[in-house]
Amino acid sequence: MKARKSLASAATKRRKLPAGGKSFSLPESRKFDSLIVTHLPNIRFLTGFTGSSGCVLITPRKRFFFTDFRYREQAANEVKDFEVHITPGAALDGCCRYIIARRLKTGVIGFEGNQISLREHKLLRKLLKGSRFFDASGEVEKQRRIKSRQEITHLRRACAIADAAYKKLARSKVIGKSEKEIAWMLESTMRQAGSGPMPFEIIVASGPRSAMPHGAASGRIIGKGELVVVDLGATVAGYCSDATRTFATGPLKPKQEKIYQVVEAAQQMALEDVAAGMSCAEIDKIARDHIAAAGFGKAFGHSLGHGVGLEAHEGPVLSPKSKEVLESGMTVTIEPGIYLEGIGGVRIEDTVLVNARGAERLTKFPRGLTSLK
Ligand code: ZN
Ligand code: ZN
Repeated sequence: MKARKSLASAATKRRKLPAGGKSFSLPESRKFDSLIVTHLPNIRFLTGFTGSSGCVLITPRKRFFFTDFRYREQAANEVKDFEVHITPGAALDGCCRYIIARRLKTGVIGFEGNQISLREHKLLRKLLKGSRFFDASGEVEKQRRIKSRQEITHLRRACAIADAAYKKLARSKVIGKSEKEIAWMLESTMRQAGSGPMPFEIIVASGPRSAMPHGAASGRIIGKGELVVVDLGATVAGYCSDATRTFATGPLKPKQEKIYQVVEAAQQMALEDVAAGMSCAEIDKIARDHIAAAGFGKAFGHSLGHGVGLEAHEGPVLSPKSKEVLESGMTVTIEPGIYLEGIGGVRIEDTVLVNARGAERLTKFPRGLTSLK
């Protein structure tokens, strides 16, 4: 039985901000009046700005964007519904000085405590002495969880590019090549297919290294009869995909085949139950229980999945401790794994789109064991 938790939180009344921009609105129940945003993926979500230095200020009356002179032209092109200011120094510094110079009525200022450095925090307190602050960590992230139609289009494309890389790999010769050579082949395939920068370093972990859940590609030469874990993603307009497949280079030992079957079944069971209204902890438990029942509970040490969007890892988290509930329009990964020292590891991961009836797999490369030459 699927226990459906209340979705009351999602229905929290929101007050629209006066200016346009993305559909961001501050929750009515918030404990701050203005918000300073410094986390770049959040800035990109709100403004469309793709540069590497900026700061957003949302006050009850107006929305501002601050960046330095290097991004003058880019900001003019990309940032539409915000008043753009070019600052002589760092963007956050410029934002604080603007608030003082214009005597902006900011009220309690929310800031991203989980994203700013200690130095920036001290700067805020020093420059805006006398202001009251509130740690508004995660406020923008919450509104990034449910993807718009446009965002889903980008995510679909990023997933299709990841699939294309796996198709290329399935046709390639890997035995006798180094993990790094394979990683580069995958990266160049994705870049040629239109991917932006890699969202994370490609994992190619072969033989005993496959037992390391995050074994970035090394100089190790891939041999025959090994497990090879490959974890990769592409980006389209900043939106990431994330997919893992485990391959075999020729016949495997019975235990290696066994863990592949267990992980594949665990992923299948979790995929079948993903739907809006399911709790993240419950989905995690479905896969985790299956792996534990097969005797490999201790060898599955990470959470089952995570949200994917402008960041490769974002909310919600699908883990035993998660208090979150899946909602339609969320994109999450389902990625059980088993890692046995000396024997090898298996992980199978797909990026899926949650809907009311279930989930749509956006990464579609076959999940059965594929043998590489
Ligand atoms: Zn991954
Ligand atoms: Zn992942």
